[in-house]
Amino acid sequence: MRNPAPIIATLCLGLLVVFLLLRTKTPEPSAPPAIPEKPVPPNPTALSILAENPDWISLEAYQRTISRSDFEKLLTDIFTTDDTWREFILIRDEHAEIITSSDPAKPPFVLSFATPENTLPTPRGWKDTATLPIPPEGKPLSNLHIAIDPGHIGGEWAKIEERWFQIGNEKPVTEGDMTLDVAKMLKPLLEELGATVTLVRDKPEPVTPLRPENLASLAAGSATEDPNSLRKLAERLFYRTAEIRARADLVNQTIKPDLVLCLHFNAEAWGDPNNPTLIPRTHFHILLNGAYTPDEVRLADQRFALLKKLLQRTHEEEALVGKTVADTFVEISGLPAYIYPPGGNNVRPVPSSPLLYARNLLANRLYDCPVVFMEPYVMNSTQDYARIQAGDYDGLREINGKPLPSIFREYAEALAQGLAKHYAR
Ligand SMILES: [Zn+2]
Repeated sequence: MRNPAPIIATLCLGLLVVFLLLRTKTPEPSAPPAIPEKPVPPNPTALSILAENPDWISLEAYQRTISRSDFEKLLTDIFTTDDTWREFILIRDEHAEIITSSDPAKPPFVLSFATPENTLPTPRGWKDTATLPIPPEGKPLSNLHIAIDPGHIGGEWAKIEERWFQIGNEKPVTEGDMTLDVAKMLKPLLEELGATVTLVRDKPEPVTPLRPENLASLAAGSATEDPNSLRKLAERLFYRTAEIRARADLVNQTIKPDLVLCLHFNAEAWGDPNNPTLIPRTHFHILLNGAYTPDEVRLADQRFALLKKLLQRTHEEEALVGKTVADTFVEISGLPAYIYPPGGNNVRPVPSSPLLYARNLLANRLYDCPVVFMEPYVMNSTQDYARIQAGDYDGLREINGKPLPSIFREYAEALAQGLAKHYAR
């Protein structure tokens, strides 16, 4: 391309979007909704930071695989939070027209709907529950390749990624190390059940080769000049954006699993990490991909990812696996369901279970297969904090007057049992 104008325009929009996306701090998925962001300018080719231009032609593979009613229902009930998608997607009787270019003269991408007489199978690179062969007795996860993604980085990066707090001289709580501990316990349990298992990371180190200093110039293009804000922006571009994009490349190009388990521990706002607030409640929920906000729908790469997820029918698989995993997990752990505060504009309840919610997170959007994104426990709850301090142990121990297993083993075992129950059906 000789004319640099479109590239420069895209870059400027990208930088604006970085700024919009990064100026608000979002501690954990259950944090209260952020201050509403300024709308992204209506350019159908605007991209998220570090995203590539979508390959719209690749959606040709989904011609005549979905009926009009399924397409519209998934789009409105699960994947979006309002009608903004209508700026880009026009639903006709027999097809949908998807705008892919800022040039109004360029024809839209046309997706033909399936009809009762003409329905083609959905192409996808992962195995869904319905088409898996019946597993041998005691090995319900045979034929499945599961990737375990221990959330965050941990180790020396825990403070930078704001997944660190400490009470007095007690052991610091670092989510990225705890998720790795659970992942290492979970792997042999799933293998025993017949699965092939790959860890997306197996040490408290980033997957991306980039570091905050490599992203400082990108951060410098944002609308702030405050050195402290710029440093934080570069750090966040490192530990969130670049790191999760690197993990997605590894998952999609090398591991190519049938399912990804994103392991997290939830938390509620803890304030000062050196003097954190403990709260009395703990809870559980699982996140599935969906609930794209108006600004997210306006970004070409996110709109493309939404359509690809919808057309691959990942939601149906995530809801099926997620429901049994969630039911089993709360049965074993006794955790109550988390209820999102009302008024959140980036989350939707999933109708099939009070334990499932749809949210558009970088990981569950970029991983090209179903993702079960776990959010059990509240690290800064009185009970779970005491369990984390107790570390890993065999059997039961008295924690705040209750006999409880190690929180790490309970997590791994409840998740393994949930998956075993789902796939044994
Ligand atoms: Zn987390």
